Amino acid sequence: MKRERYENSRRLFWKAERLIPGGVNSPVRAFNSVGGNPVFVKKGKGAYLYDVDDNIYIDYVNSWGALLFGHAFFSVVDSIQQQALLGTSYGIPTEAEIELAQLFVDAVPHVEKVRFVNSGTEATMSAVRLARGFTGRNKIIKFIGCYHGHADSFLVAGGSGLSTLGIPDSAGVPQGAIADTLLADFNSLDSVALLFEQFPESIAAVIVEPVAGNMGCVAPVSGFLEGLRKLCSQYQTLLIFDEVMTGFRLARGGAQEYFQVEADLVTFGKIVGGGLPVGAFAGKKYIMDQLAPLGPVYQAGTLSGNPLAMSAGIQMLKRINRDEALYRRMEHKTAYLEEELKSLFEEFKVPVCINRVGSMISLFFDSDAVTDYASAQCADAGTFRAFFQGMLEQGVYLPPSPFESWFLSDALTQEDLDHTVEAARTVLSGMVKN
Ligand code: PMP
Repeated sequence: MKRERYENSRRLFWKAERLIPGGVNSPVRAFNSVGGNPVFVKKGKGAYLYDVDDNIYIDYVNSWGALLFGHAFFSVVDSIQQQALLGTSYGIPTEAEIELAQLFVDAVPHVEKVRFVNSGTEATMSAVRLARGFTGRNKIIKFIGCYHGHADSFLVAGGSGLSTLGIPDSAGVPQGAIADTLLADFNSLDSVALLFEQFPESIAAVIVEPVAGNMGCVAPVSGFLEGLRKLCSQYQTLLIFDEVMTGFRLARGGAQEYFQVEADLVTFGKIVGGGLPVGAFAGKKYIMDQLAPLGPVYQAGTLSGNPLAMSAGIQMLKRINRDEALYRRMEHKTAYLEEELKSLFEEFKVPVCINRVGSMISLFFDSDAVTDYASAQCADAGTFRAFFQGMLEQGVYLPPSPFESWFLSDALTQEDLDHTVEAARTVLSGMVKN
């Protein structure tokens, strides 16, 4: 009898569900919006994932963007192994922290000091605390559909898993924790200006994903980031670029370099750790020095600056530094995929809006232009579900949600890209027939 394609994954998921809420340790991994059960991974190598049923997938998630060079990247793995033999954590400073900080400061514009943490959530949570401590103000502006991790103050109108699961505001967050979170529309400077007029002296920070990646991929319209910069300077508010996704992905210097807009604080995650749990927040010395032990803003972490994570990060940043053509290549690969998919969808007369910035890309079915959360929400989730399942069947692993960006890795070859387009052709043929 032919074995079912996802049989072992299904068994593991049943087990996991008994022990782990929803069977997953982060909601975006669940297949709630695409149906079926998550596939369980056995290993990753380069551009490919191998699941427990021995299916192979071309990976367009890449640990949600962390793996710029693909899975099990040799120099990262090697440095982790070497460091592990010397100890996994000390809770005492190491030279590696200085080395990574230097690489960081050299790469990211307008940044003089950096502090390493263990996740993107910690980075954004700490950056907002620092902004509040620095300005002596309490309110922050966030954009509807942007996601900045799961700290209390961000869990209103969040993107990512919150959108996927239709949870606008999380339970368990006290009203007080979000009372100072003001909401604006992504790409609408008017909505931001209105809030500033209402609270001219109370807003500590505007936090934004410079390219939104948590409502699908949504680019900033021309002038939006520049306008935020202007408003923040006018009202003496700090502009925080949440570059957990875009950092070291759009460019070596992230969105500040890509869009030539200066932020006051920048938050990072994902690529900085090469797949290990790392985050970072950074900015000018006069702001960063408000942190304890120098200043009154407290922020700490037993495992922060972890030697394994630092060694992985150093290898990632060194690799980025060595490769002048990297971001051009990433742009070409993703533009190729975009163009090929566009003509394929046209051929099959399936209406779709494809958004792309650099190596971030996503599809919105049955949509015209997607520029904010409201337009992203109009996309046809049912068609995405069918497309996702079809692609999975064809050996292409996409993010299991219509509200997430795809992330390409440099490990993808021309053959992989062509295989992906062929897979999409097969899937669309089936969908159009049905
Ligand atoms: N900010 C952004 C822009 C993110 O995309 C994410 C996670 N995808 C976070 C913050 C939170 O990072 P983490 O999941 O590492 O806590």
